[in-house]
Amino acid sequence: RERVREILSSVRDRSDNRLGVEAMEIFDAYGIPTPEGRVVDDAAEAQSVAEGIGEEVVLKIVSPDILHKSDIGGVKVGVPVAEVGDAYEDLIARARNYQPDATILGVQVQEMIDLDAGVETIVGSHRDPQFGPLAMFGLGGVFVEIMEDTTFRLAPVGADEAREMTAEIDAAPLLRGARGREPVDLDGVVDAVRRVSQLVADFPSIVELDVNPLVATPDGVRAVDLRLTVD
Ligand code: ADP
Ligand code: MG
Repeated sequence: RERVREILSSVRDRSDNRLGVEAMEIFDAYGIPTPEGRVVDDAAEAQSVAEGIGEEVVLKIVSPDILHKSDIGGVKVGVPVAEVGDAYEDLIARARNYQPDATILGVQVQEMIDLDAGVETIVGSHRDPQFGPLAMFGLGGVFVEIMEDTTFRLAPVGADEAREMTAEIDAAPLLRGARGREPVDLDGVVDAVRRVSQLVADFPSIVELDVNPLVATPDGVRAVDLRLTVD
């Protein structure tokens, strides 16, 4: 709690009030699983972090000025460890090219989650002026706006309510394992929805929070992309 408070108040002092990768630490404090990884600011370091993670990693540009990373080619999935150095330089170049005056904090080197066995979901919250914090769950990924398959409750939600949410979206059969696929770790999804809703209920300064995607696989869930706005 104390650590979360510290992180949130440090954001308030900055010119922009959004948190991305820094919010990973908040999630750790709330027991919401995140992938292994770190933010680095040179190619050699990217390489050595990647070596500690696995044979392939994901690289993402980290910049407060770039909200949708994949829109500018700022996310590279399945990068073999030997190519991490070059991929690092390429990501920085793309970001500079896209917006020459962007503040670039570095590159996030992240564990690769097996999406073939998984479902990209979205878990989030925003503060409704009338009802207060809402918990949101739905189908996630880069096409969320097009799919619009989400459901809402007042936050915080308990386990039963969170389970209802996972059952009532159109994509629910995907979570249960459609067409011979293995079901995802539904308990893990339910727990993540519950914990995210508790986090926003505990900290009224969080006005908006999006985990997109929370990747759900048969082995568990991972919050791979976070965005958090503080007022
Ligand atoms: P943004 O939403 O800013 O474009 P994301 O971090 O959500 O950036 O990455 C975009 C997409 O890349 C995700 O929706 C997912 O399909 C894929 N992706 C991101 N991180 C991982 C990861 N660690 N493992 C596997 N796929 C990933
Ligand atoms: Mg995303």
